[in-house]
Amino acid sequence: IIIRMQKGGHLVKKVIEVKNLYKLYRVGDSIVRALNGVDFDIYEGEFCAIVGTSGSGKSTLLNMLAGLEKPTKGEVIIAGRHIEKLNEDGLVSFRRDHVGFIFQSFHLISTMNAVENVALPLSFRGVPKKERLKKADKMLDLVNLKKQKKHMPNQMSGGQQQRVGVARALVVDPEIIFADEPTGNLDSHTSEEVMALMQNVVRKQKKTLVMVTHDNHLATYADRVFHIIDGKIVKIEDNRNKNVNNLVQNEKESEKIKAEIAGKQSGEDNR
Ligand code: ADP
Ligand code: MG
Repeated sequence: IIIRMQKGGHLVKKVIEVKNLYKLYRVGDSIVRALNGVDFDIYEGEFCAIVGTSGSGKSTLLNMLAGLEKPTKGEVIIAGRHIEKLNEDGLVSFRRDHVGFIFQSFHLISTMNAVENVALPLSFRGVPKKERLKKADKMLDLVNLKKQKKHMPNQMSGGQQQRVGVARALVVDPEIIFADEPTGNLDSHTSEEVMALMQNVVRKQKKTLVMVTHDNHLATYADRVFHIIDGKIVKIEDNRNKNVNNLVQNEKESEKIKAEIAGKQSGEDNR
């Protein structure tokens, strides 16, 4: 079954299906269970945040979803394809055709201006130059960078650079966007701005966005929040259709989780 009924009565497609996912690493004589049995589904148009402290398994999970690493066990099904079964060539074309990435450190090319950076993923798809630049130009309008189109990365603020990053992720019109700590290098005010922009753009473009973050507050921008502790999803919070009652409930639950996390963190670095 790849669809479900929503409250309004319309059908929504399942885009990501994770089943019984494990990733074990051997470190010296011991085994690290980076992912320890993860199951969830993500539907078309959802903005999902995966939240957990440093070392909880967020990046490992995102790498499995994007096919950057092979799981030890379990299944990752994206748009009907078994990602864990693809070979290297299959993974390269899967990522090129279906996925956009937003990185913590922006990963812009320093010798290219904003439009050229945004246009770059289109060149890997063989789109002619004129069309590439036209599309990139439109994307920069969408992320409110009308005046910075010709700016080089070092002529932009961190927030502006990450907005270029968002535009670049969206320019190929991917089904899914993955973001690993996208505001990790930004101050808190700029982080809020970039989150609001991502939320807005993803809604407008009806994209599926999966973001990982250690920041509980930034996760509130998401439709659903998956809490990960020691490689396990311990809770999934639904922020849609929130009423007063479940606001109170979520408050209580988030206090509980905070306490749990605080317990886990003692003795660990607090990045
Ligand atoms: P997060 O992104 O939530 O900070 P990670 O997914 O990077 O956490 O790491 C989860 C756990 O797996 C950590 O204990 C980390 O040390 C371990 N880990 C991650 N990658 C490797 C690796 N390549 N080799 C060994 N251990 C790893
Ligand atoms: Mg990480």
